[in-house]
Amino acid sequence: MIPMYDTIPKGKISLDNLEELVNKRMELLYALDDINHSKGTYKADPIKSLIQKMESTIGWENDLTKEQDNISHFILCVAFCKSDSSRMWFANLESRLMRERIEYDLSNIALLEVFKSMRIPLEICTNIDNSLKAKIQFKSPPGEDKSSNDFYKIPFEYVLNLLPTMNYFINKGFVYISCNERLPIVINVFKDNLLKKLNKLNKYIDMILNDNRISKLVGSIEARRDLQAAARIIDSSMSESEYISLNDIENHSEKFYPLCMQILHRNLTKDSHLRHTGRLQYGLFLKGIGLSLEESLTFWKRKFSSKIPEDKFDKEYSYNVRHSYGKEGKRANYPPWSCGKIQNLSPPSNVEYHGCPFKVFSDEKLKMLLHEMRFTELDVGKIMEKKKNNEYSYACVKHFEARFPEKTYDKVGIHPNGYYESAVKGLKKKIKVRYEESSTNESSKQQGNEMDIC
Ligand code: SF4
Repeated sequence: MIPMYDTIPKGKISLDNLEELVNKRMELLYALDDINHSKGTYKADPIKSLIQKMESTIGWENDLTKEQDNISHFILCVAFCKSDSSRMWFANLESRLMRERIEYDLSNIALLEVFKSMRIPLEICTNIDNSLKAKIQFKSPPGEDKSSNDFYKIPFEYVLNLLPTMNYFINKGFVYISCNERLPIVINVFKDNLLKKLNKLNKYIDMILNDNRISKLVGSIEARRDLQAAARIIDSSMSESEYISLNDIENHSEKFYPLCMQILHRNLTKDSHLRHTGRLQYGLFLKGIGLSLEESLTFWKRKFSSKIPEDKFDKEYSYNVRHSYGKEGKRANYPPWSCGKIQNLSPPSNVEYHGCPFKVFSDEKLKMLLHEMRFTELDVGKIMEKKKNNEYSYACVKHFEARFPEKTYDKVGIHPNGYYESAVKGLKKKIKVRYEESSTNESSKQQGNEMDIC
């Protein structure tokens, strides 16, 4: 049976074993993330072989491997429950992993069992009315067996947020779907449950991290994420022609930027200047969406030109731009900042514009801005509700949904470059984005012997 990870693991485990399990799972999650990022298309074979490799240690084969699966999942829940952007990042990858494992492992009958165990009221429709059947078949994807009777119905509320990406027909409060649509429903419920669990865990995180051994392990997980970030940003295999160019920026800033970057861009245009932290936040974002060093220098020079003459710019500002591209100082290739990092910056003064507006703006200021930007009252309400609950990344998801109802938003609220990537998806000119989480946590190696994990 598929694990829902609803039992807290109990017992003793050595720190070395625990670290090994965590590393195994992280390796897999990062591999999935890399496959997503670098190829942009579904690649079944590398994923299958990764899962195969993992099954012997963190698998569903026997009680031991199932327990190890549960332990590694649980420790990563602790590591990634602290901010809503980390929660979303982790929940996205764990759901993706769950999807791949179900596809790899599961028979049709077992999938129906999963619906039962998750208490999802999915019903098979055997004697379906012919006129309705014709409508469902009409909505079926090309190539699917149109004579199949294998249709299902489910109450509307269970699939509300999946409707934009589903083939379905609605009748009397039920959504009718073909068998192909069942897996996304399971994954959606799994992800929802996982996010709820991470939120709950976050309430106890300070208490959990009081244990030195856990806090060191969590620190090393975060440090590993940094290394992965650096590896990705240095990846030079992408063709430069597929990135945004300087000429696209004005247009893209209004159409596709997340709110934090729109605000920085607008104020840069208005004031012909941005303070240091704002320049870093926006400059690294621009680097991530593909601006070369030369284009970045030209961009900032032009934007500053009405206040700062070129020679002054060269003397006082160009060093920092080159520094963020790894051409000065310790020559590190800095990644664009994640939502988690941006949301944790010190709040901006009244002449600064950095940070996440869903966090740093007052309710009145945010509401006014959203109205100015012509969001509907309904959408403003949805965004404000999340802000009031301090769910800043979810407010950003609502902002994205309101602007791009037809697009999927897996990376929104996790990284500004992920928001942009999701927003530009489907453009005629394909645009690639380079980005990753960044964090300031230092690497630490855990010591110690055995520990309780309950
Ligand atoms: Fe920017 Fe992230 Fe805040 Fe959205 S959630 S506005 S992308 S920092």
